[in-house]
Amino acid sequence: MNLNLTNTAKKLCVIGDPVLHSKSPLIQNAMIQALGLDYIYLCQPVSLEGLPAFLDAAKALGYSGFNATMPHKQALVPLMDVLDEDAQMCQSVNTVCIKDGKLYGYSTDGEGFYRSLQRAGGQVAGANIALIGAGGAAKPVALKLLQQGAKHITVCNRTLEKANVLCQHDTGRMTPTTLKDSALIQAASTADILINCTSLGMEGVAGGFESLAFLDHLPTGAMVCDLIYHPAQTPLLARADALGHPTLNGLGMLIHQGILALEHFTGQNFDADRMEEVVRGVLA
Ligand code: NAP
Repeated sequence: MNLNLTNTAKKLCVIGDPVLHSKSPLIQNAMIQALGLDYIYLCQPVSLEGLPAFLDAAKALGYSGFNATMPHKQALVPLMDVLDEDAQMCQSVNTVCIKDGKLYGYSTDGEGFYRSLQRAGGQVAGANIALIGAGGAAKPVALKLLQQGAKHITVCNRTLEKANVLCQHDTGRMTPTTLKDSALIQAASTADILINCTSLGMEGVAGGFESLAFLDHLPTGAMVCDLIYHPAQTPLLARADALGHPTLNGLGMLIHQGILALEHFTGQNFDADRMEEVVRGVLA
């Protein structure tokens, strides 16, 4: 990629620990270049202890904003001057804009997934959802789906206590359960959409689902989603596809989070189709 760097380029970055594996610089610089924006997006390792010093430095150096990954998403919440609705709802910040020395915190995880799901034809309003996982990604996805009118979410998680905590957000519309076969089968049998929010199936992660037999119990036409995008087709998605279900991997979520972040940084709206094409091209 040839960036046309100018002396006036506005600075952006992604922070995390670890962060050097991040695809955000590639994605953001590809969009910046395609749009002809005067920005540069860097990769910045920052430890949890180093976060307050980084915030001071980012303000002093005139950064326009940054994205944050592990372990900063929760730590940033009390450090923001302003939190948007989704960041408040999830108590998590992954995008920060710096304007006039003030820090504006956003959470794009839930909205990124929702946009990707919508574009794939997923109907959330009135849907019964089987959501597998109760970690950092499951929470914003679940709360966004509730916000968008999901009828009910069954949260299946290895550690039941974490599913219990997540379901406290809306005990009327959320039910916690385990990752046992019987629990997964019960959740799948009424699901319009089934979503894997665990790392089971991710490249480099040992093991996977003990059994995928629960997929045989899905109603006809139910959609199966995986937040994982590496590999592009997890064993879960391969089996669902073979059974004739529409499937969606996590690449769209990653891309739409990137587009949302750049929209927050620049205050502009971009053509999502064009940006998706640009990012898919650079990631291919
Ligand atoms: P996390 O906070 O560490 O949560 C991990 C989840 O996976 C927990 O529910 C955990 O269950 C479960 N899990 C892990 N190992 C397991 C095992 N051996 N057996 C059963 N359950 C297991 O991670 P996260 O941030 O939520 O990320 C989860 C996945 O989503 C990752 O694969 C990540 O790459 C993906 N993701 C994708 C995007 C995207 O843009 N597409 C964005 C964010 C995350 P316990 O609670 O029992 O530990």
